[in-house]
Formats: sequence, C-alpha cells, structure tokens
Amino acid sequence: MTSKTDSGSNSSPFPETAIEAHGLGFSWHPGQETLSFPDFTLNRGEHLFLHGPSGSGKSTLLSLLAGMLRPGNGTIRVLGTDLYQLGAGARDQFRADHMGVIFQQFNLVPYLTTLANVTLPCHLSALRRDNAELTVADEAAGLLRALAIPEDHWQRKVTKLSIGQQQRIAAARALIGAPGLILADEPTSALDTDNRDRFLELLLSLAHRHKTSVLFVSHDRSLASHFHHQLELRGSRG
Ligand code: ADP
Ligand code: MG
Repeated sequence: MTSKTDSGSNSSPFPETAIEAHGLGFSWHPGQETLSFPDFTLNRGEHLFLHGPSGSGKSTLLSLLAGMLRPGNGTIRVLGTDLYQLGAGARDQFRADHMGVIFQQFNLVPYLTTLANVTLPCHLSALRRDNAELTVADEAAGLLRALAIPEDHWQRKVTKLSIGQQQRIAAARALIGAPGLILADEPTSALDTDNRDRFLELLLSLAHRHKTSVLFVSHDRSLASHFHHQLELRGSRG
C-alpha cells in the first residue's frame, strides 16, 4: 500500500496506483480545528480496510477522495488524476466514470425505483455503460439477485424498501459498470450476517475480476482479514 509503483508498464489505461493521498487536511469551518489524515497509497486491485473511532474523520476522508470536498491542504490522485486540478464538472464526470461510492447515508434518489437507482451510473457514464458485460438492465438484475433483493421490489420506489435493502441497492449502484475504485462507508452497518457475507463475497469477487481497488470503512474489525491493508484514523487534529 505504501510503495509508489507508478511504472506505467502494464497494458491497462490506468497507472498502478488507485489512490495517492498526501498531506491531507480539512476543516469543516474556517478557522476551526483541522482534521489531519495520514499519507497513504493504494495500488490498483488492492483492498484497504479503514477504521477508527466515531468522529475520527472516516466519512470526511471518503468525501475528499470522492472529489466531493476540497481539502484545505494536500493532494489526492485517483487512478493517476489529480482530482482537485479538475474543474467541478470534470470532477463529477471523473467520479461517475471511475468511482462507485456507497455513502454512509446511501444517497439513493428517492423518487426513482430500485432498478433505476442501480442503473443510474450507466446513464451518467458511457464508460460504465460500456464496462457492463451484459445489457445494463441484465447487469443490474444480476447484482440485485446476488444481493437477494426480491424481484417484486425492483420496480418499487427505493423509499418503500427496508433500510437493509436500501443499503444493498446503494451497493449494487456502486458496483455496476466495474468502476476502478469502490469507496464504501460502513456499507454493511444495516445488514444481518447473511446479507453482510453475501455482499462482501460479491464485492471482493467483482473487485478481483475487474482489478478494482476497494476502500472499505467499518467498525466491524472482524471483517479486516478480508482486506490486504488496514489504515487507522485516530482523530488526531493538527
Ligand atoms: P467518522 O465518519 O469517522 O465518524 P466524520 O468524518 O463524520 O467521522 O466526522 C469527523 C469530524 O467532522 C467530526 O468532528 C464531525 O463532527 C465533523 N463533521 C462531519 N460532518 C460534518 C458536517 N457536515 N459539518 C460540520 N462538521 C462535520
Ligand atoms: Mg462516518
């Protein structure tokens, strides 16, 4: 995780590093305390387990990495691109093309159906659409089946589903179209053990197949062994 191996010798269009975070600091309010984050590098295809006490800045770090919050200090490169050198529109498109994000609060689109939420990234990104091995609808159906969402729920508005089901819809939306990087914020918090294990198996098998890098936040330290690396945030403020 810590070595820099941006050799460019692979045949993939991407460099070997999925994330390079350097000197990151963020303050929610100007003049107030700054959250400081450790430097880290995550190589393509590798999986990082991020943990730390509540309030230590895990969700803030994910928002920085997703290109949704500009850091006060430091740089972030995702798949070789310096995120905050991009304009806001280009950064949104970069996220749509290359990142699957499972937010702690899911951020599903409330007026859309289950199926429409899952296929949304393929409508926002031609790259994600082209990555789908089947039609977009079939790809979505495969993910929903693998995550045990009953078929009679697929045309329902997401708000009619249980919290655990909504979390799995958010997971399917992140996985569709094989993004290069998955950022998952406590993605199993609302799931029972069976659904948690089903999701982890799907996530890691798809990640292996597509050489996707995964940054996975969880309180559940028993899951750490599934990941190549661990990073702890201690809530240190600089
Ligand atoms: P974690 O995900 O590890 O629980 P967060 O990133 O959510 O931590 O929060 C880190 C710190 O930033 C906390 O002190 C929290 O109060 C603050 N914070 C988080 N989100 C906001 C926000 N939207 N506005 C202001 N402060 C926030
Ligand atoms: Mg959080």
